[in-house]
Amino acid sequence: MPARDFFHSVMRIGPVQIGTHRDRSGRTKHAAACTADDCGWSADYSTQTAAQLAARTHRCRAN
Ligand SMILES: [Zn+2]
Repeated sequence: MPARDFFHSVMRIGPVQIGTHRDRSGRTKHAAACTADDCGWSADYSTQTAAQLAARTHRCRAN
């Protein structure tokens, strides 16, 4: 689970929040994180487009 200390929320698609944060190498990562309590899914992507696609196709366990 990546540290979310520097997570900056950009948008929300359904229950999934898209944001950016820096990894340990200082590179900007685009993260998609589900906000549903029963889900807990999150993943990092190198582009915001990829993160948005993942958010749209996320099959939420909480549904
Ligand atoms: Zn979910």
